[in-house]
Amino acid sequence: MQELLKALHSPKLSQALLQQVIELADTFTARYGRKPVFMEVCGSHTMALARTGLKNRLKHHVTLVSGPGCPVCVTDQQSIDSMIALAEDENRIICTFGDMMRVPGSQKTLMGARTEGKDVRVVYSPTDAITIAMQHPDREVIFLGIGFETTIPILAVVLKEAQERGLSNISMWVSTKLLEPILRHLLDSGEVKIDGFLLPGHVSIVLGAAQYQFLTDEYGISGVISGFEPLQMVSSLYRLLELTIKGKVEIINDLTSIVGERGNKVAQQLMETYFTPCDEEWRGIGTIPSSGLAIREEYRHLDAKHKFDVPNIKPRRTQCRCGEVIRGVIAPPECRLFGLACTPVQPIGPCMVSAEGTCAAYYAYTRED
Ligand code: SF4
Repeated sequence: MQELLKALHSPKLSQALLQQVIELADTFTARYGRKPVFMEVCGSHTMALARTGLKNRLKHHVTLVSGPGCPVCVTDQQSIDSMIALAEDENRIICTFGDMMRVPGSQKTLMGARTEGKDVRVVYSPTDAITIAMQHPDREVIFLGIGFETTIPILAVVLKEAQERGLSNISMWVSTKLLEPILRHLLDSGEVKIDGFLLPGHVSIVLGAAQYQFLTDEYGISGVISGFEPLQMVSSLYRLLELTIKGKVEIINDLTSIVGERGNKVAQQLMETYFTPCDEEWRGIGTIPSSGLAIREEYRHLDAKHKFDVPNIKPRRTQCRCGEVIRGVIAPPECRLFGLACTPVQPIGPCMVSAEGTCAAYYAYTRED
């Protein structure tokens, strides 16, 4: 195992393979008169490609487009406003992941609400909300559950535990997103020409490699399931290029040690028990049918959307172009607020706030001063 970990961080190996990626990419460009375009679907890949310098190093050879895989970034404005509005009642404790604290709502952020004295707490695991609910039986605890398939099983665990413990003072405000519907939506829209997908390892552990078969069968497009270490990402890009140049269409699992063909059955079962498909609103995209999961009817007492009335706040209009960034239509510097009015210290849109946001990754690692 030590040897394997060492190899994953080996600069020599990475450099040698990177050179081969560049050569293959240049072969593609010479043949087709344009650079290959690959989309990394997930925010963790966006950040890892930028942080490791791979995005910068490859920019003249491969166009790496960031996709809609950052859960904070794709959460629509109305949901953000509702989450902030929930905090107004003094009898409530709002529990959230840290990323959500600084996402601008139409009037304020969750951080702003906390500054005003509202009880908004950052938790490191959703199950911390259970502990808080048990410590405060006379108050309502609401966990803000956002995320893709990597997070949804953990949300299901919280609902299961709340149910089993008979807790009546905890609920969840859910805004979950599913990977397949958004990939279909992007490909159906044809807004961005994509030659292949770098698919996220962690989501794939839950879903399984077979889940991506629709990409090859229905869209004729390849994907490689990749880890987040430099060598893993370079290896996956190499395999993606190899497929593209040979004109082959396949899903390659470049992470067979942890990603199975059919995924994690226990996690899938948990999701199915507590959630049911629902139409979801995506920032900058709109409503996509059956692209999210809502809490099942039988667990409605744990669903904050049914338990509490939340005022309808008219979303504030800004010049933020997060919607286009999320869809891969523009790169962050094409937004005229990037790096000027909008920075990580004073973010205007969620893509600049989130640790997985494309604008934040671009600002921190790839911008040219
Ligand atoms: Fe939105 Fe800021 Fe990104 Fe522009 S730079 S798209 S304002 S988050």
